[in-house]
Amino acid sequence: MGWISNDYNHEGWVAFVAPDGRLSGSSTGAGVLFHGITGEYQPAGEFDPDQEIVPDDLIMSWRGACTCGWQGELWHRVGSAAEADIAARREYVPLGDAADVSGEVEDAIQAEWCVHIAPSEAILGVEAAAKEHQQSAHRLDKTVAAAKAAGASWADIGRAAGISRQAAHERWADK
Ligand SMILES: [Zn+2]
Repeated sequence: MGWISNDYNHEGWVAFVAPDGRLSGSSTGAGVLFHGITGEYQPAGEFDPDQEIVPDDLIMSWRGACTCGWQGELWHRVGSAAEADIAARREYVPLGDAADVSGEVEDAIQAEWCVHIAPSEAILGVEAAAKEHQQSAHRLDKTVAAAKAAGASWADIGRAAGISRQAAHERWADK
C-alpha cells in the first residue's frame, strides 16, 4: 500500500483519520479498520479482535503517515465537488462511497511525504560518494605501492598523483 524510501527506513501511506484522530491504512467493505476498541463502533470481529470498523461516511479527513512517526497536514473532506481544492487540502468523496481519496490527492500526499524523506534520500548520495571515495583511495595506495616496488621515485609518484615529492613521501613512505 505504501511508498518506501530507498534506505527502507520510511514507509509512507495515505491514512484515514477517525473522528477521534486515530489513523488507519486499511479498510473493508464495511468501513475503515482502526486499532483499539472504544465501544463506539462495530468490532471488526474475531480475526481482528483489537480493531473496530468506522463507517466510511464518518471519515472526514486524511493525512500522510510514515512508519517513522511523521504525519502530514490534514486533508479535509468537503460536501461537494465545488468545494474541493487540492491547494487547500480539501477533497470531495461523496457520502455512501468508500472513503478513498482520488489518485490526484494521493499523489499530492505522496509529494508531502517525499519532502519529509528528502534529507535521508540525499544522505544516501553522500554515503555512496564516500564509499567510492574510500575505494579509490585504497586503489591509489595499492598502485603507489606497486610503482614504488617497481622502482619509481617519490618524485615520479608525486608527479603522477598531482602532489609534490615531499607530500608523496609523507603520505606513502610508511605504508
Ligand atoms: Zn518517515
